[in-house]
Amino acid sequence: MTSDCLFCRIVAGEIPATVVHETDTTLAFRDIGPKAPVHVLVIPKAHHRDVATLAAADPALAGEVLAVAAAVARDEGLLEDGFRVIFNVGRDGGQEVFHVHAHVVGGHPLGPMVAR
Ligand code: AMP
Ligand code: ZN
Repeated sequence: MTSDCLFCRIVAGEIPATVVHETDTTLAFRDIGPKAPVHVLVIPKAHHRDVATLAAADPALAGEVLAVAAAVARDEGLLEDGFRVIFNVGRDGGQEVFHVHAHVVGGHPLGPMVAR
């Protein structure tokens, strides 16, 4: 728990979130500013800065985050038409919250993978 981390505070129940999936080690909740009809964030409850540090420190937990991302996509009805899982990392990646999170987005065609 990092007291000044927004997503650690959501894990601790100090900030409300619309939770759609929870395990002992992960939490999935709706993004507060959805960029698509479905936009869910999947986080490990333990604090890791980004997906690179998570993968290095605890690859099994990184796998759990991916498994939950797939379960959320299934539960949200995205498997047939497809979806996108995004980890933003660092400045060029546009990361704003430095507690690793997978964005699960879908529900309509998402267009090009990145802006040129
Ligand atoms: P990123 O740019 O990858 O760090 O994404 C951070 C995401 O967190 C953005 O899509 C925000 O809309 C989302 N976000 C920020 N605050 C909250 C919150 N309190 N609850 C849910 N999502 C949030
Ligand atoms: Zn945190």
